[in-house]
Amino acid sequence: MIRIAANHHQGEPTAVRVDRFPDRCPLCHNGIQAKYLDVAHVTDDGIRSKLELVFQCPLAKCQALFISRYSYILHTAECYELPRFPTDGTLSG
Ligand SMILES: [Zn+2]
Repeated sequence: MIRIAANHHQGEPTAVRVDRFPDRCPLCHNGIQAKYLDVAHVTDDGIRSKLELVFQCPLAKCQALFISRYSYILHTAECYELPRFPTDGTLSG
């Protein structure tokens, strides 16, 4: 479990937890240890809560920035989970 500081739409700070960081770059598709760029945003429409984190690919030949989208899991309080298939929740291209 990884604890991070996030912000809501109006800028209010909040603390969240995620299950893991992405282990694959959605642009170059290599296995990576994604570099978290300390940008986290929570979207809450009153029904469900989503979390977006900004990462960078650490590979010199890529260096791409990407956003991973986490969804809230009801049965695990306060934890956001990365989709099972990274490309499902990640912006590419
Ligand atoms: Zn990459």
